[in-house]
Amino acid sequence: MTDLRPPILSLSAAELETWLAEHDAPAYRRKQVWTWLARGATTFDAMRDVPRSLREAMEREFRATSLRPVAVSEADSGLTTKTLFELDGGHSVEAVVMRYTERSTLCISSQAGCPIGCPFCATGKFPFGRNLKAHEIVEQAVDAARVLAAEGRRLSHVVFMGMGEPMANYDSVVDSVRRLADPELLGISPRRIVVSTSGLIPRITQLSEENIPVTLAISLHAARDELRDVLVPINRKYPVRDLVDTAQAYAGKTGRRVSYEWVMLAGVNDTERDARELGLLLKGKHAHVNLIPFNPVDDTPYRAPERAAIRAFRTLIDAQGLNVTVRDTRGREADAACGQLHERVMRNDQAAVS
Ligand code: SAH
Ligand code: SF4
Repeated sequence: MTDLRPPILSLSAAELETWLAEHDAPAYRRKQVWTWLARGATTFDAMRDVPRSLREAMEREFRATSLRPVAVSEADSGLTTKTLFELDGGHSVEAVVMRYTERSTLCISSQAGCPIGCPFCATGKFPFGRNLKAHEIVEQAVDAARVLAAEGRRLSHVVFMGMGEPMANYDSVVDSVRRLADPELLGISPRRIVVSTSGLIPRITQLSEENIPVTLAISLHAARDELRDVLVPINRKYPVRDLVDTAQAYAGKTGRRVSYEWVMLAGVNDTERDARELGLLLKGKHAHVNLIPFNPVDDTPYRAPERAAIRAFRTLIDAQGLNVTVRDTRGREADAACGQLHERVMRNDQAAVS
């Protein structure tokens, strides 16, 4: 049965404080509740320094979260955990926790599905579902913080590289970033938050004016319009040179170096010509190039280049004076590139129905 109680994080700080005042409770209880959520409390009853009657009132009126985990997969000997969550209304999204020696990163979703439709991406293959609300984005991080806290770890970084195009859900994404950064909730510095976008130019400009200096990642994948029009269809509206100008204006305004993502597709964008075009496009810019080996997706015509081809491409970029790294392929066995656990679960569902 549908649970109609609003999730507690769907209330702003002011709204929760108003609710508390209506229940004769002081405003500082709001901070206590947020601290418990950030520490991993999944019930109001667990919030021990909150009076019992208030805990019971909250339990009657609110849910601790709106997300329901429906599938979990692990990879990299337990260093990577991917969770598929069902949202209110039935759509589902995924979030991936990646543990490193000195940090723990969450890859977060901003939409159920994605309207952009890049042909190499698992998320783009399904019909667009809906935008996530800010609290649904924050709840993914609160859940990751809970999982990590149980291991004595702290959620230190968040990357908007799960399902969806964050700049196509602008207001909720910006609202969620402010809450992720709020020291009274998760306290993740904007510098440790990466917003990855396929390139919605007006929204990037708007983001540069928000006074939240998140790291911007541009999903470039091609340096010439003819190829980028195919790989990242939004390029037909916002061509690559204008996009790079806008991204560099973002860098100028925020002081944050822009990261350019390049998913490596064998024979498509890994040639010498591509390396030269990329070098020319970004020469002299405050930029970083991140090469991502393609994570194979069924029913696409693409494959990942051989390791030697990736190394050679990297060398060509490096030789042109650009800053370049190759992304590790965390989570491959866990279907952990964006949209892939979702895709597998959907396929199994379809198999079960037919
Ligand atoms: N929609 C946003 C953010 C989510 S996708 C964007 O496109 O930037 C996050 C990153 O994963 C993007 O750089 C995207 O191009 C990349 N990606 C998508 N499918 C992939 C795959 N199968 N293998 C490797 N990277 C992929
Ligand atoms: Fe959407 Fe990003 Fe996937 Fe493209 S790569 S379809 S923009 S999620």
